[in-house]
Amino acid sequence: MQPAPADAQANPPVMTVIRRGLARRCPNCGEGATLTGYLTCVPACGSCGEDFSHISADDGPAWATLIVVGHGLAPFLVILGRDETIPVWSAIAALAAMMLAGVWWCLPRFKGLFIALIWRTGATGEDVFDHPARPHSGHADHRTDDVRRPRDS
Ligand SMILES: [Zn+2]
Repeated sequence: MQPAPADAQANPPVMTVIRRGLARRCPNCGEGATLTGYLTCVPACGSCGEDFSHISADDGPAWATLIVVGHGLAPFLVILGRDETIPVWSAIAALAAMMLAGVWWCLPRFKGLFIALIWRTGATGEDVFDHPARPHSGHADHRTDDVRRPRDS
């Protein structure tokens, strides 16, 4: 039996989307990459053509990275800080190296995760507020437009 085409899934399950996001793969097909280079988001999937141009992860990946890496380093901070046999300079160097390695590893994965979750939920943040300085983007859910606009009657 032939496998289904990559873009055949209309709405993949959330856990599949999370797994694909952490792998920095397209949440729709799981084949194309969501990032090029270290952190640059691609405008569309190179495999299925899914549009990512309206998705912005903003500070989400940095926030998640700080939460995970910070909590991961906390025990080492206590252990190295209390051990008087370890010179302070080596404790600082070890903590800095662990922090840099953790951030380097986590940040692109969390960016992929946020892109995938924003794609899945449609929570792009566009048109939440009808800011007068921002033109209408066209990505809005029209039901929210109806709520904000006065009726013609
Ligand atoms: Zn794709």
